[in-house]
Amino acid sequence: MITRFAPSPTGPLHLGHAYSALYAFDLAQKNTGRFLVRIEDIDQSRSRPKWEEQIYEDLSWLGISWKTPVLRQSERLREYSDALKRLSILGLTYQCSCNRRDIMQALTAPQEGADIPTGPDGLIYPGTCRDRHLEAKGIPASLRLNMRKAIEAVQQPLSFNEHAHKKGHIDITAQHLINKVGDIVLARKDMGTSYHLSVVMDDAAQGVTDVVRGEDLFEATAIHVLLQALLGLPTPAYHHHKLIRDENGKRLAKRDDARAISMYRTEGYSPADIRRMVNLPSDP
Ligand code: GLU
Repeated sequence: MITRFAPSPTGPLHLGHAYSALYAFDLAQKNTGRFLVRIEDIDQSRSRPKWEEQIYEDLSWLGISWKTPVLRQSERLREYSDALKRLSILGLTYQCSCNRRDIMQALTAPQEGADIPTGPDGLIYPGTCRDRHLEAKGIPASLRLNMRKAIEAVQQPLSFNEHAHKKGHIDITAQHLINKVGDIVLARKDMGTSYHLSVVMDDAAQGVTDVVRGEDLFEATAIHVLLQALLGLPTPAYHHHKLIRDENGKRLAKRDDARAISMYRTEGYSPADIRRMVNLPSDP
């Protein structure tokens, strides 16, 4: 078994991250497996070396150890770009120059007042650029997946095994992908990749067998399983765990410095206290 913790170095780790990292670490320990850390720093405008350093410090303090060298996504742009080329050659992608406002306008125009359809990748794209062939025009654009064509190309049932949230075998239907997910962005104009593409390629490259992450990413897993099928990569098992919330029931965010691990450390809490706070056994 290989598990991983994949934080973005864009702020301090808080209790929610500690829970996720300990959960993945304990799971690997229990199964005499391996635990990895991956730095998800494709958003170079928000990633900072000081946060990466802090992540290592916090994890070590929590009693977590991992195999080095750590994989950093910013060093994998070439691999992402090669995968995008393969999907493009198959005719499964298209360039899109819409910004958020364009998409909102297209979505609200026909049915004013109706709910704006959103999915795991945000607003469900209405397809404005699908047949505009922008690649020939040299306009800077993002790259989208043509969902209908992608489903046709896969020609196999899609599913995954979930071990935590909604435990069981989860089937992904074509109808769900078309209506509730849509033409997702595979490469952002400013990054040359996306969370979805990078996470799928890296989990495969690192041989991750069990993905542990928050249940907020459960819905995105349909996208990941589809991309795995398109790129010929294995589908790992998934463990989407509960989210740690504050006393008002709101999930913790990066800016919740009040619950930063470093704050607990300076206030004299112990790693065992942190385990107790998030309800994890002191001895995995
Ligand atoms: N980098 C993501 C985050 O910090 C986690 C992605 C994942 O575990 O798949 O939320």
